[in-house]
Amino acid sequence: MTKLAMFGGTRTVTAQDADPALICWPVVTDAERAGALRVFDSGQFTSNNTDGEVQLLEREWARYVGTAHCAAVSNGTAAIELALAAAGIEPGAEVLVPAFTFIASAIGPVQRSLRPVFVDIDPVTFCMDPAAAEAAITPRTRAVIVVHLHGLPADMTAFRALADRHGLLLVEDAAQSHAATYQGARTGSLGDIATFSLNVVKNLPTCGEGGLVTTGSAELHRQVELRRQFGEQLQGAKERDYRSRLLAGNEKLSAVQASFARAQLDRLDEYHAARTRNVTAFLDRVGALPGLLTPHTPADRTHAWHILRLRFDVTAMGHAGVEPGAMRAMLHRALRAEGVPVQPYQVVPLPGQPAFRELGHQAEDFPVTCEVIEDSLTLQRWHLNPSSGPVLQRIADAFEKVWGHLDVLGTAAAGQTHRPAWRTAQKAGV
Ligand SMILES: *Cc1c(COP(=O)(O)O)cnc(C)c1O
Repeated sequence: MTKLAMFGGTRTVTAQDADPALICWPVVTDAERAGALRVFDSGQFTSNNTDGEVQLLEREWARYVGTAHCAAVSNGTAAIELALAAAGIEPGAEVLVPAFTFIASAIGPVQRSLRPVFVDIDPVTFCMDPAAAEAAITPRTRAVIVVHLHGLPADMTAFRALADRHGLLLVEDAAQSHAATYQGARTGSLGDIATFSLNVVKNLPTCGEGGLVTTGSAELHRQVELRRQFGEQLQGAKERDYRSRLLAGNEKLSAVQASFARAQLDRLDEYHAARTRNVTAFLDRVGALPGLLTPHTPADRTHAWHILRLRFDVTAMGHAGVEPGAMRAMLHRALRAEGVPVQPYQVVPLPGQPAFRELGHQAEDFPVTCEVIEDSLTLQRWHLNPSSGPVLQRIADAFEKVWGHLDVLGTAAAGQTHRPAWRTAQKAGV
């Protein structure tokens, strides 16, 4: 058996395999360059021009998602804040947010002086658990923010029913799920209002920061438009009247960023198809390894494959009793040494973040989230590049090699004392 790279053996994924052209993200082509020049030469840099790049992006994204309306905004966090503001939810009200997501899902409510109430996740989809959401509802609950985590749509039938039963605003945080579908409909068209990020790391990127808000409601859309522009109602070619109808800030997208996103949108379906092929071929191989659990996509959904999360089962790996977190640390070291870009992502449940300490939660109150964090590895970014197929196969080689050494790695992990990151975070008291 070949020696592990962490013990001085040969690295599986070489620098040549990981050629920047095959793994970089976003992929920049002449279409993006031409788009930027088009904006420079037009002199129309703001979002206020009729038929400017921003309006074109809004129309194209609304058509793509299948909603009547789309408003471009400055980033995905602002999009969440504006969606909640548009619905007029009063300060102090509660908003359900999954315990496992990027922190922005909870910061949107905080920016509106709303109280995020965290809800544990489903162990298979990694999205908010509808039954746990139901249990977290109080007379003060006004909205539920469902996150299609890692690119897999949440159980929207259950959340629609829950929102209707309790009169809640149903918000989709679709920052990770561009192009994913649920029962044939695209994410962004499934709730009352939905938010996307165009951050450079997302599946539909711009050259920096950006966001989109989609909705079928003309009134919610109008409110988002007002609130991204100082409360002003801009009306196409008409002169700006500088009358602020309500107190609001400035959360708009620029024309250069819109032009970049439009060029990316032209290739989104093609990239999405390539990603699905490449990722499926990779998961088919690593899914055959004992104890390695690949993401499950329910039959009524398609996955956008934003982040790849692989859970493992120490018992099926032949190391019953070893702490999953200790095993994860060992696998992480071994895979990194082989050149695999495993990366930690959200190492504590959101309610366990030092920033949320005053809400008084214990990370352990969210046991499924804790379990998933401890017994899974994540891969980010390389697979977003449509040409990453061959390097993903090399990564599968590396997993197979590491799995060939589970006896040594498992024994080493068994000798480690492991402290979950949320305990360290609590201790550090930053
Ligand atoms: C990235 C992300 C956001 C925030 O988007 P930004 O554009 O970075 O502000 C919100 N929610 C989720 C789930 C995200 O992944």
